[in-house]
Amino acid sequence: MNDHAPLGPGCRDTPVLKERGQREVFCGLTGIIWLHRKMQDAFFLVVGSRTCAHLLQSAAGVMIFAEPRFATAILEEKDLAGLADAQDELDREVARLLARRPDIRQLFLVGSCPSEVIKLDLHRAAERLSIKHAPHVRVLNYSGSGIETTFTQGEDACLASMVPGLRDTDSRELLLVGALPDVVEDQMLGLLRDMGIDNIRCLPARRTDDTLACGPNTVFALTQPFLGDTHAALERRGARHLPAPFPFGEEGTTAWLRVIADEFGVDRATFDRATQAPRARARKAIAAATETLNGKSIFFFPDSQLEIPLARFLTRECGMTAIEIGTPFLHKALTGPDLDLIPAGPTISEGQDVDLQLDRARAARPDLTVCGLGLANPLEAEGLTTKWAIELVFTPVHFYEQAGDLAALFARPLRRRALLKHGASA
Ligand code: SF4
Repeated sequence: MNDHAPLGPGCRDTPVLKERGQREVFCGLTGIIWLHRKMQDAFFLVVGSRTCAHLLQSAAGVMIFAEPRFATAILEEKDLAGLADAQDELDREVARLLARRPDIRQLFLVGSCPSEVIKLDLHRAAERLSIKHAPHVRVLNYSGSGIETTFTQGEDACLASMVPGLRDTDSRELLLVGALPDVVEDQMLGLLRDMGIDNIRCLPARRTDDTLACGPNTVFALTQPFLGDTHAALERRGARHLPAPFPFGEEGTTAWLRVIADEFGVDRATFDRATQAPRARARKAIAAATETLNGKSIFFFPDSQLEIPLARFLTRECGMTAIEIGTPFLHKALTGPDLDLIPAGPTISEGQDVDLQLDRARAARPDLTVCGLGLANPLEAEGLTTKWAIELVFTPVHFYEQAGDLAALFARPLRRRALLKHGASA
């Protein structure tokens, strides 16, 4: 981070360009790919079409050594035409699955576009099946449908579906919310424990944890900026959110930890002792990538919902200039602290009208464009350098030890483009 970056007016009050046109994003089923790795005794049963099955299979790859913990119950034409009782078929499918896989403790019925179109009531199915298979298996449901959603909403919907089932508690607990790779989660827990903060829980837990609880003395911090519904569900249970910049980069991680440390009365010396060495490592690692990023412009198409915190990281810690920061949804309760830190100047846009936004990107000719897979190839063909937004949720990028990797993810396409140019002119 550049400690001397002036804190001028941020972007929290910048008028937002709202667009409601055609969108180019993946659907919420995509989240299953990282959620099934994180929650080791959960199973995700998509109730959908062959298209949904293909999407999952191609995105997740084929597992050879382990039985996958996701599958698609395919709705056939007779289901879609209402000629068969899809609820009965679902019950039979679930009974077969659970008999074969006693390791499953938590089963998610995941809705899709087809199940929504035929109005298959998966909530009712989950309640019925939960009673039938209790106490060994808990059955929950959420929607991963691509109708009016974006791909990170799958995780949000999944975690939100777990909140009503959390036990009640009056204990003072810290709940850390968001699915992180285990190694990153361990780093986060290590930093907080080094400051003397205990009584920490994670949602989602790696294994079904019946002691996971929530109540009026629970405070929670989000590790992902796309958890708007989970945030609302936790507040409904009486928990209090700790708003903070998201833990990307050295500055973001320090600010995120600082908010929690202040809440738990950690003194400055203890905080510095716990963070000094990893902060220094993070700065050094970011500096290596910053050589490529410094002075370059960036344009974000709305996709992962990580755009605002990443723009904060890239503008304040890597010397980039943001032209437009597009996000599918703008939750100021979540991303307000990051907006406060982004120097005023970029267009902040919410939603998408893809043709209009493409026109703006073409006119601006940014050095780097962050977008979905569908837009990347055409833009590359037009000479723009792109970064796939989806890579950012599949790569460990949070907290100090990953800060250099995060910066490098953005530096790599710029270096590649420079090499290609150099090669062409040689
Ligand atoms: S849920 Fe909808 S958008 Fe996603 S794969 Fe299935 S049909 Fe396609």
